[in-house]
Amino acid sequence: MSKFIQLNNKIIKCNKCKRLVEFRKKISKVKRKQYFNETYWGKPITGFGDSNGEILLVGLAPAAHGATRTGRVFTGDKSSDFLYKCLHKSKLSNQPTSVSINDGLKLFNTYITAALKCVPPEDKPSQQELNTCFNYFKNEIYLLKNLKIIVALGKIAFDACFKFYQDIYMLKKSNYLFKHGVKYKMPDNKYLVGCYHPSPRNVNTKRININKMVKLFKNVKSSI
Ligand code: SF4
Repeated sequence: MSKFIQLNNKIIKCNKCKRLVEFRKKISKVKRKQYFNETYWGKPITGFGDSNGEILLVGLAPAAHGATRTGRVFTGDKSSDFLYKCLHKSKLSNQPTSVSINDGLKLFNTYITAALKCVPPEDKPSQQELNTCFNYFKNEIYLLKNLKIIVALGKIAFDACFKFYQDIYMLKKSNYLFKHGVKYKMPDNKYLVGCYHPSPRNVNTKRININKMVKLFKNVKSSI
């Protein structure tokens, strides 16, 4: 069994964070009205995509009625609708949508995951929950043997990526601030890129738009 499969099997059985376990169970039982006839996945979410890829995209956590329902990261919610339009335009995915685990989606040279594997209430994890889950995230990074560039979608994801490096290299945080489009060369010669999260709030307020995100992804591709 590959190390990735072993890790993912461990993740989906994890019940370490009491508050998050209760929350993901509650949402999977109560459900959103429009998905009432569906059986929610209701477990932690693993990464998805090309585990030999050179690019890693990192989100914050699974969405309540997206990944927690469908069982795949960035699948079945508004953030994934926007993200996959951009990934497809950037030729990083075979299709512009991500709606269910059986939709035929493929990522090219790219793996995608979340810093936290369970949905937190109001999308706000505690620092302790992030720390508890960090080991899984760290191991995913180690298992991506061809990794060259990490794109953090939003500040919390960026901070988790930075922690990965800080724990090894004792870096100064003030030298690595989150901003859309920043690209830092890390001590292991990989790059860490900051990108606004593709959330409906960021899209609706026009903080991010398709052109801006596609430009960033194209820049990522040209750096490898
Ligand atoms: S957030 Fe991570 S550590 Fe906590 S229960 Fe979910 S998978 Fe386990």
